[in-house]
Amino acid sequence: MSKRKQATSPTHATILDQLQEIVLRSDGIALPTYQSKTASVLAVHIELGNNSADAYLEHPLVADHAAVTVLTPPEALRPTLTLIFKVPMPLEGPSEIRDLMRALPVVFQNAVPCSDTSTIYRAPESATIEVRDTELTADHIEMLSKLGAEEKRSAKQETGKPYLRSSVRLRFQEPLLSAFGVEITLDQVGNGHRVHCPIHVGQHPTAKTIVFEDGQRGVICDHCRRTYVVTWTPPRYDFNRFEAIVRELAKAEDNPSDPSVRFISERYLPAIAIGDSGVSCVSSPKGTGKTEALREVVVRARQASKNVLLIGHRSALLQSMSDRLGLVCYLDPIEEDEEPVDSEGEGAESVGAAG
Ligand SMILES: [Zn+2]
Repeated sequence: MSKRKQATSPTHATILDQLQEIVLRSDGIALPTYQSKTASVLAVHIELGNNSADAYLEHPLVADHAAVTVLTPPEALRPTLTLIFKVPMPLEGPSEIRDLMRALPVVFQNAVPCSDTSTIYRAPESATIEVRDTELTADHIEMLSKLGAEEKRSAKQETGKPYLRSSVRLRFQEPLLSAFGVEITLDQVGNGHRVHCPIHVGQHPTAKTIVFEDGQRGVICDHCRRTYVVTWTPPRYDFNRFEAIVRELAKAEDNPSDPSVRFISERYLPAIAIGDSGVSCVSSPKGTGKTEALREVVVRARQASKNVLLIGHRSALLQSMSDRLGLVCYLDPIEEDEEPVDSEGEGAESVGAAG
């Protein structure tokens, strides 16, 4: 079959012209082959068999990102759907192009990549052709490139190995279509639910959900022969959360002239920083005089015949704080003949909730 013959076929010319004019404009068009050094489109033929093309045509990857869809009539001997995607940036270098082409049969079930320029636009005149001014995103290219690189690696491995864990990650709330056609998100389901794979496009629910021992979630797909897991970020303690909440409270203050929340930006805490009534929370860096301020509180409490209870999170810290503030620490051994510190009943005590 000569290229010239294909080039003069009206269907071929129509698709190419439309691609050139609508989709690719003046950029020119470079077709991908396994030897190409540059390519501006990717294309696949999908063998439909007895199935309808709807599962492919309605998939967002195709509906929103395919530049050209060519669907042969159902009565064709071998019904096929051809998809042509424009890439956001021209692909450079044969290895990148090969990786992307390897990924196409993973992403489209029953598909073969178009690697022969003479077959890319082959379509009977009765075919339904749609051309749209749309293209793949950089994220799609990254995903395809990862899948393609994995295909290359797994081809070298012996067969019978367990499914590989893909470097393509899912979102925690990845939308999934269950085998019953119900839309769910990955965080809502437990182990073993039959779903349509969130990565590849096909007619059947070939994947099932999985929850690992550590709580990480993912899906295993029989078509892709991969496990896709959620991007995992270990829970982190937010050290600034408390301050953020306090600042929110200060903003919501209904009496700004006599605020109950104050932010002091001096080197040392002033003595009046801790009030006599209500709850005072003090958060400040080391060496700004928190212990000094507490000493004032203890003195004022004693003068007013009030009790002081000191609690803390570390026994060593409690013991040294009690020493510095002149309080009795419950961790200290009580000596029989020793006069209690607060013999006159001021009742300054220290109780530590050590942990
Ligand atoms: Zn899959």
